[in-house]
Amino acid sequence: PIKLQIQHIHKAFKNHVTALEDISFSISQGEFVSVIGPSGAGKTTLFRLLNGTEDCTKGQILIDDHPMENIRRQQKRQFKKNMSTIYQDFCLVENSSCLENVLTATLPDMSFFPAVLGLYGTARTEKALQLLTRVGLAEKEQEPVKNLSGGQKQRTAIARALMRQPSLLLADEPIASLDPVTGRQILSLLKDIQQKDGVTVLMNSHNLELSMEFSHRLIGLNNGRIVFDGSPDEINDSV
Ligand code: ADP
Ligand code: ADP
Repeated sequence: PIKLQIQHIHKAFKNHVTALEDISFSISQGEFVSVIGPSGAGKTTLFRLLNGTEDCTKGQILIDDHPMENIRRQQKRQFKKNMSTIYQDFCLVENSSCLENVLTATLPDMSFFPAVLGLYGTARTEKALQLLTRVGLAEKEQEPVKNLSGGQKQRTAIARALMRQPSLLLADEPIASLDPVTGRQILSLLKDIQQKDGVTVLMNSHNLELSMEFSHRLIGLNNGRIVFDGSPDEINDSV
C-alpha cells in the first residue's frame, strides 16, 4: 500500500512557463481520483512529477511519509515498481503480439525484446495470460497489436501495467483516444481493478462527465492551480 502526499509543488520550465503552482493534496490506498481540467492546465506535468519523469522546482512529494528526493536509489526503484502508468496513445509495440507486449512490461528498452522473450519462464507467461483474460482479451494473445481496436489496445496496456502488481496505477488521459462507449468500458475496467484488487487509480482526463461517473473524488486544475478537490456531489453543488 502507498500513501502519496503532494505538498506545495511548483513546476516552472526553462522558458519560464509555470505549469504548476502550489499544488497540495494526498491520496490514500484504494482511492479512484480524477484530475480534471482544460488543455494546458498542468495535468500531464503533474503526472510526470509523480512517475519521476520530471523533478519539481519547489515543494515535495512524500511516499509513505518519506520525501521522494530523500528516498535512496534502491527504494526509489522499489517504489517505481509499485506504480504503473498507462497512456493516451497506449505506448505499445504495434508489430508485436498482445502477449509479447504484456510480457515485456518491466523491460526498460523494448527494442531488442524478441531476443529476450525466450528467457521468460512459464510462470511469467501464465501470469501474462491470466491478466489478458482479466482484461477480456483471452482470445487475442497472439494477435499483433496493430490489428486491435483502440479499446483492445488500452486493455493490453492495462494488462501490461498490472504485470508489476502495482499499488498505484497512473492513467494519463486513458480514454482521450477512444470513442465514448469504448471509453466507458475502459473506465469500468479500471474501476473493477480499483475495487477488486485495491489498486489506487489516479487518472487524468478532460472528460468531466465520465470522470464524475467513475471516480469518487475529483481534483480540478486550471492554470496550474487546484480549483476544486471533492466528490462529484460537491461539484454538482458548487455549479
Ligand atoms: P495538460 O496536460 O493539462 O494539457 P500540461 O501539463 O501538458 O497541461 O502543460 C501545462 C503548461 O506547461 C502548458 O502551458 C504547457 O505549454 C507547459 N509545458 C508543458 N511541458 C513543457 C515543457 N517541457 N517545456 C515548457 N513548457 C511546458
Ligand atoms: P518506467 O516504466 O520505467 O517506470 P515511466 O513510467 O516513468 O518509466 O515512464 C517514463 C517515460 O517513458 C514516460 O514519459 C513514457 O512516455 C515512456 N514510456 C514508459 N513506458 C513506455 C512504453 N512501454 N513504451 C514507450 N514509452 C514508454
